[in-house]
Amino acid sequence: MLCCSLFFWHCQTAPEKGTPAHIKAVTSKIDDAVLANQETEHKDWLTYGRNYKEDRYSKLDQINKTSVEKLGLAWALEMGTKRGIQGTPIVVDGIMFATGPWSVLWAIDARKGEVIWEYDPEVPRSTATKYCCGVVNRGPAIYKGAIIWGTLDGRLVSVDAAMGTKNWEVMTIPENSKYSITGAVRIIKGNAVIGNGGAEFEARGFVTAYDAVTGKKAWRFYTVPGDPTKGFEHPDLAAVAKTWSGEWWKNGGGGGTAWDAITYDPELNTIYVGVGNGTHWDREIRSPGGGDNLYLSSIVALNADDGAYKWHYQTTPGDTWDYTATQPLTMAELAIAGEMRKVIMQAPKNGFFYILDRATGEFLSAKPYTYTSWATEIDENGRPLETEGARYTDGKTHWISPSSHGGHNWHPQSYSRQTGLVYIPSLKMSEGYARIDGREAYEKDAAGGGFGANVSVANKIYNPTVFDGNPNAPLPGTASGRLLAWDPIQQKEVWGIDQIAHYNGGILSTAGGLIFQGDAEGKFSARDALSGEVLWDFDVRSGVNAPPITYLVDGEQYITIPVGWGGGMGQSNKYVDRIHTGTFYTFKLDGKATPPDKLPAMASNFTQLKTNATPANIGEGLNLYLQFCMGCHRSPGKGGGAIPDLTRSSEGIFKNYEEIVLNGMLASQGMPNLGDKITKEELADIQSFVLYTADALSKGMNPKDYATNLAKMQYLADTKGPIRKAIQ
Ligand code: CA
Repeated sequence: MLCCSLFFWHCQTAPEKGTPAHIKAVTSKIDDAVLANQETEHKDWLTYGRNYKEDRYSKLDQINKTSVEKLGLAWALEMGTKRGIQGTPIVVDGIMFATGPWSVLWAIDARKGEVIWEYDPEVPRSTATKYCCGVVNRGPAIYKGAIIWGTLDGRLVSVDAAMGTKNWEVMTIPENSKYSITGAVRIIKGNAVIGNGGAEFEARGFVTAYDAVTGKKAWRFYTVPGDPTKGFEHPDLAAVAKTWSGEWWKNGGGGGTAWDAITYDPELNTIYVGVGNGTHWDREIRSPGGGDNLYLSSIVALNADDGAYKWHYQTTPGDTWDYTATQPLTMAELAIAGEMRKVIMQAPKNGFFYILDRATGEFLSAKPYTYTSWATEIDENGRPLETEGARYTDGKTHWISPSSHGGHNWHPQSYSRQTGLVYIPSLKMSEGYARIDGREAYEKDAAGGGFGANVSVANKIYNPTVFDGNPNAPLPGTASGRLLAWDPIQQKEVWGIDQIAHYNGGILSTAGGLIFQGDAEGKFSARDALSGEVLWDFDVRSGVNAPPITYLVDGEQYITIPVGWGGGMGQSNKYVDRIHTGTFYTFKLDGKATPPDKLPAMASNFTQLKTNATPANIGEGLNLYLQFCMGCHRSPGKGGGAIPDLTRSSEGIFKNYEEIVLNGMLASQGMPNLGDKITKEELADIQSFVLYTADALSKGMNPKDYATNLAKMQYLADTKGPIRKAIQ
């Protein structure tokens, strides 16, 4: 700089890195052509899935099987956040843009690990119960000098990349609705394309394209039909409506939210959207006369110019298990039966790995990548052969695999162009499904935290149960993960590593012959992509949700992993002693930075407070817990994740139950005010259930006895009713 200021006539060098002038210069060059070129350019990380194929494969190989032993910490940046971090950062010429909890965006100097600016879109913290799976965000997009991302409360925001000041903001969802945005926005042909979530809370799914420079709406595609008597927004919906019955548009809008996967093939001028489950989960409640209920659980191809329908493929016709097809979509060119095909690959929740021809939508093959009990196989026409009882129509509780968490959830997979394998962070878990129409309770609950109205998670413990007799079936109440290396041509597992937790981080594969993944146990590992052998690992102190990225800065290869436990099951479970605040860890060869202190574990024992409530009141407390608390706090007694385990609360918390739950004392931390939903007497029942659970578990009661006791008490509550008494 000194040189520049003294001899300005010689000054032809670029502005200093990290300055607004530099950021403006490098980000304003990012246009459609640059984004479309990221399959061959590997210096930066410019889009969610690294390139439009979303293969998360990098050609960078300075860090490889040999050199990886020298991989060390370049910097660690603590963000001070306490909730889940799931985002994939964007990096351009050493400047990183990343999202965190509550849709906050940071610009970070990736050479030094320093925040350049922060933008908080100020999502109201009291709205936490509108979001099923944490206050997370999966990442921003970059276009012509702007950073664009979706906020939890449904806005699309554009800020100036250099200054962090707002360019524009649009509301993408109906006002006062129950939609949310956690997914990453994609830039496609000059538009910012964004979906939304909320099928469990009543929503009609759609994706919308906004001009990425002005924010002006370009087009919208609805994933399910509305009321046919009002006409259809686009012509394909007329045919689609014939696959529905009843009055689905009244009872929650049909669902089909597109909350994660959106990809684009510039050559085919086609956008691919992964569509979610229906509202209600149970088809017999949602669409009583049956039908496939398009486009639920489908991959839908759209014309990139105007969002018009091209083709669709439905993974789970007439879905009734929350088997979304929103999971990551990855493209590749594969030789199938001797012919090169442009394919799109997905491991949706339903447990089968699919390969489709992405030009035509032709079904090519599908095989189970995890244990499935709802269907035995996918036939040559691409339809599943369902097993008897899978649709749980008999009023009993059926334990079915995969669970509503899927055999794979949103956690990004990676396709290595070097090994030809797809690396999938899969999970193994069954779930008790039963027919429940909880709409009546939900009307009262309105904006409450329960999923009761629209899901089929069995909630009566005394209900007769049908277990899956297969010895390979995951036992009820258990869950685990498996990192899979999957051969997409042979449709089989090449290797797999069992993991203790069912949710782990997404995958990065590189030309260094490596794959990288962070896991729930706080390890960030590099593995040999061919064998799965761990070649290097690093203790990142907290469980990991997010996928790692890699990029070059000044010719040197860096790897960044955002760490922040939470989201989904991370809200109630943890697999490390202590959850640390959100931290971005960045590594390079010969990195010598000191990691943040690993603080000692925090004791969190069960409360010693006791309840003298009647069994029927404890049973009613369980019912209310399931309706109002379960959505975020999940199964009590597990130790807590990003959200506290109520059985381990301090005495002060128990003393202030009414202030917290009925008067909004902790609303600023995300605990909603339920004062207009729950009476004092009902709250006393919830507290009694929590105290009973703490007492039973602290005495070491075995889980079977605990469940049997709860079943008896719940039955009493449902048949005789509780005795009403407020907290004393
Ligand atoms: Ca769902």
